[in-house]
Amino acid sequence: MRSVIIATENLGKFREIKTLLADEFDVFHSLRDFEEKVPVDEDSMLYIENAMKKARKVGDRFGMYAIADDSGLEVEALGGRPGVRSSRYGRSDDERIERLLSELEGVPWEKREAVFRAYLAFYLPEKQRCYVFYGELKGIIGFERKGVGGFGFDPVFYVPEWNRYLAEMTLEEKNVLSHRGRAIRAFKDFHNVRFFRNPTVHRL
Ligand code: IMP
Repeated sequence: MRSVIIATENLGKFREIKTLLADEFDVFHSLRDFEEKVPVDEDSMLYIENAMKKARKVGDRFGMYAIADDSGLEVEALGGRPGVRSSRYGRSDDERIERLLSELEGVPWEKREAVFRAYLAFYLPEKQRCYVFYGELKGIIGFERKGVGGFGFDPVFYVPEWNRYLAEMTLEEKNVLSHRGRAIRAFKDFHNVRFFRNPTVHRL
């Protein structure tokens, strides 16, 4: 049985990661499954450091493979804010969106470019080794909320290629193009090669 713990309390993140990794692991835990809280200070200004720190601490504590994602939204007109501090930009998703829309008041459509970044750390406690994967998604911050799916800033994040907001997509659609989906696919490629489960590698 291959068990993994996704080092997050965020159910939106957990669902996205679990759906994409359904073939790689048998049992998925989130931090919500355990009474004991594992405090991790996400105090670095680098996503990659926060992701590694979270994965290591949680993996060592629970003695199983651990995956941690540190992600954020960078808005060009705000000089890259909220960035690595996205989760602290407000107390709830609602508050964060309100603040973003009010900070962007009066900024025209063509100046509302933004990018989501995700760093995914995979930690193997028995080897004390950590691997990190990256994905990004470019889009535009809309003038108002659209859609009810996803989490976080999804209702105000417009994806030009799909002519839709992230919150108007199904979880599967979002996973095809999102920053987190891309980072997870990079992890899957690595994982398949590592465990020789990729037939093309077998044939070599
Ligand atoms: P973290 O838990 O420190 O990685 O915080 C990530 C924050 O960035 C979340 O609380 C959201 O506000 C935002 N965020 C990251 N990924 C997404 C996404 O896929 N959709 C919407 N918001 C996201």
